[in-house]
Amino acid sequence: MVTKERILCPVCDSKDYRVLYEPWVNIQEPVKLYGAASGIPGTQRVVRCQDCSMIYENPRFSDDVILKGYMSSEESGHDSQYPMRVRSFYRALLSLQNNIPGKGAKVLDIGTSGGAFLEAAKQFGYDAVGLEPSGFLVEQGEKRGLAIEQGTIDNHSFKQSSFDMVCLWDVIEHLTNPKGALLKIKPLLKSGGILLINYPDIGTRLAKIAGRRFWWILSVHLHHFSPATIREICNRTGFTIFHFQRYWQTLQFGYLEDMAIHYKIPLSKLLKKITPGFIQRIPIPYYASQTTALARVKEQ
Ligand SMILES: [Zn+2]
Repeated sequence: MVTKERILCPVCDSKDYRVLYEPWVNIQEPVKLYGAASGIPGTQRVVRCQDCSMIYENPRFSDDVILKGYMSSEESGHDSQYPMRVRSFYRALLSLQNNIPGKGAKVLDIGTSGGAFLEAAKQFGYDAVGLEPSGFLVEQGEKRGLAIEQGTIDNHSFKQSSFDMVCLWDVIEHLTNPKGALLKIKPLLKSGGILLINYPDIGTRLAKIAGRRFWWILSVHLHHFSPATIREICNRTGFTIFHFQRYWQTLQFGYLEDMAIHYKIPLSKLLKKITPGFIQRIPIPYYASQTTALARVKEQ
């Protein structure tokens, strides 16, 4: 039987923390915790670092156990919303356009999943390539004609100084060693290149109101960043953040209803039953406490 281990703060390496939330769901099987595409709420003991205020899961399973759990996932439900995800990404790029590289730029998307961002990036005029560990998802992306390499930040064939922008869309909170990953991303950027990090933001008013019920505190999210701690981890890995903005997602109404059922929101099953099909297909833009941060490599 594998057990959880006490870890140091993933941002500042401090061992001092206080407990914010105790788990209220007892699930110990890594395949259930990390293999479920959408994650499970209430399984974590959530702590706050006394030194840098980082909020993270502690104790937690070893890196190997977590990675094996992730590898068992096949995000089919997630993928049904592919066209909506492309649309959200394209809108995000439009709203970021004064702060990101222009058309023709070389862009790397790490943890690209089925390639929805790559599709949007192509439409936007980027020369975009993805990196994705899951063979199943790489295959899906290739069927769509997207350029995806199977691998991880520790194991890929990209050359140094080859990208104008590297993107981490909803990835940093899953990484067992986010600081190590940022250090490995830095040399992939050209001089003046940009790092884009989109993350579930525990520093927002919505998150504070939700407390331990904050919907992004899920078994698959090892870290819960705020603007302050994203800034801090960037600082410590040689990046300076120069822009933050809210991320608006678009999903179909029916899918939002399914998520409400998944998270056991009262009356959600009844609502789904009485919603006609044409309403279930309506695209809904919504803000769910996600933030996009842009950073540049610090000048030496
Ligand atoms: Zn810390």
